[in-house]
Amino acid sequence: MPQGPGDGNLHITFLRMGTGDCTLITCPNGKRVMIDCGSDRYEEDELEEDDDDKDDDDDDDTPPTNEEIQRQKIHDAIFSKDFLDGGTHDLDLLILTHTDTDHRNKFNVFFNQKSQRGYRGIQPHIKKIYHSAVFRAYHPASTLLGGIVNNDAHIKRVSFRKDAKGKPAGIKISPYPSDRPNLEQNALILEDLPDGEEPDYENHEYVTEHRDLRILDGTVDGQAECYISILASEVEEYLQAALGTVFCNADEPWTSSPANSGSVVTLITFGDHKIIVCGDATRHTEKYLYDRYLENQLIANVTLVRVGHHGSFVTSSAQAFVTHISPQIAVVSSHKKETTHRVPSRVVLDRWKAQLEEEDDHHLLYYWGKPPSKSDEDEIPISRVLTTATDLYLSKTYKEGIWVTGSESDHITYDFPG
Ligand SMILES: [Zn+2]
Repeated sequence: MPQGPGDGNLHITFLRMGTGDCTLITCPNGKRVMIDCGSDRYEEDELEEDDDDKDDDDDDDTPPTNEEIQRQKIHDAIFSKDFLDGGTHDLDLLILTHTDTDHRNKFNVFFNQKSQRGYRGIQPHIKKIYHSAVFRAYHPASTLLGGIVNNDAHIKRVSFRKDAKGKPAGIKISPYPSDRPNLEQNALILEDLPDGEEPDYENHEYVTEHRDLRILDGTVDGQAECYISILASEVEEYLQAALGTVFCNADEPWTSSPANSGSVVTLITFGDHKIIVCGDATRHTEKYLYDRYLENQLIANVTLVRVGHHGSFVTSSAQAFVTHISPQIAVVSSHKKETTHRVPSRVVLDRWKAQLEEEDDHHLLYYWGKPPSKSDEDEIPISRVLTTATDLYLSKTYKEGIWVTGSESDHITYDFPG
């Protein structure tokens, strides 16, 4: 059976964005979803061997730069038959997790037709956008996207609230252009729909009995149900005392930022599969998720997690969260030689790895980078591990339980059969 939008299966593709994120989802019924599109640094040094024979003459045959090549690969994936060029050119749902540039700065590269050299004339039609923070804060992406979305009513800011005691409470939805804190409009409660009334996902969102905010139906009639939900967005940070030792071990250095903590966290369900995409969620977000969904086990034992904040140790992947969601597969997005932010952290990868091993030896941890080489297997002192390029951590630590990927491919796709 050909694979692509509407083939009855769920497909999730993580594009290799270097330090950045872009996730493509095609639902069993053909609906297409994108989460973020940004990169602060491409993997241009993958190709740096080629730079040796470049000359300084600036003639017309100048080969494309490494960044151009990388950009083209990502563009090809987004506009492939497996995604936006499969049938219609609709993008049924776009989720903007937060305003950091590494999650939004490539929209104007990939979606602005005029800036591209003949991109097959495809200009996607975006049906709805859900986001954290004020939409205008995504400028210039917001200006571009606002111009190609169906109409303003389908751009919605989502805010998950806490009550006076800090416990997870209601959800606020604020449509653009009035997406300011003073506008209050609550999502419908799915259980309260009048008898016989079908949910209208084109125009509404629904809080389910599990307390997630369901925003898209990807189900094929008569087959396993598939939905896209938001689990958290705009979660406000806790006081340190409230985080407690479970989410903030005093022995560990840690930090956070409101923008990252407010990141949208997305849940994709298909039959028994649960996939979570964390954006740059922090320990604050993780505690909120834990508190909100602990009882109903909505996020326990997930199939796949896109690890929060590029595998950062100082902000994310608290042990309690890792243990609770206990994934079969973990995906980390980071530039191969990401030394500025020291991500992904070895401590964090150890943490996820330990959890994977508890479940099954065959579970995999994916990471963008080159496969470990012999020379990388040398002992690396711990002090160096905390300060050097991350692929060294991986090579040293994981020889069997990890499949290091990225050097061969510009993306990785998971297929979940219907
Ligand atoms: Zn990020």
